[in-house]
Amino acid sequence: MNTIQNLLIKKAFELGLSAYPLEITDIFVENRIRLKCIYGCRDYGQSLSCPPHVMDVDIFRKILNEYRQALLLIENYDLSNEQNILKAWSYLRKESFHKMLELEYLAFREGFTYAQLLRPGACNECDTCAEKCRKPEFLRFSPEAVGINLAKTMASVGEEIIFCDSSSVKIIGILLIE
Ligand code: SF4
Repeated sequence: MNTIQNLLIKKAFELGLSAYPLEITDIFVENRIRLKCIYGCRDYGQSLSCPPHVMDVDIFRKILNEYRQALLLIENYDLSNEQNILKAWSYLRKESFHKMLELEYLAFREGFTYAQLLRPGACNECDTCAEKCRKPEFLRFSPEAVGINLAKTMASVGEEIIFCDSSSVKIIGILLIE
């Protein structure tokens, strides 16, 4: 691990996040992830942070190849006592996003000007999106929106997504560093 990764991991820990160093080759981009966006996700076309409002998978692949290192960011929650899990998840996701964004800002201040956060899930800074983004400074897209297979990427650091288990909810982002 190098100095910037160490600094970001320490800060992530202070914020209550787990952070794992990723080589760019640990990030798996697949066209079939976009299939799941288009068919079956209620945010498709609704959120400005989701397809078809974000770049094509092929363009993202080219961009990703210009990076060398990244961090996988995870915040873990036990929501088994929540009555409304979707509502709780939406609220917590917003909090996690802002913590993760702090890490992007920190990397930028440290001279990593191309640091870019891929946020957890669709943007939910506003109740609904307007035709034009109301808060473009917060607009980031998710790993899935550009074709990242999160399950495979997580497996590369020994983490896993457990679907349909409210006692083990993971809020996940990726910070591209340089
Ligand atoms: S900041 Fe608001 S308008 Fe912009 S993408 Fe997010 S929810 Fe939509």
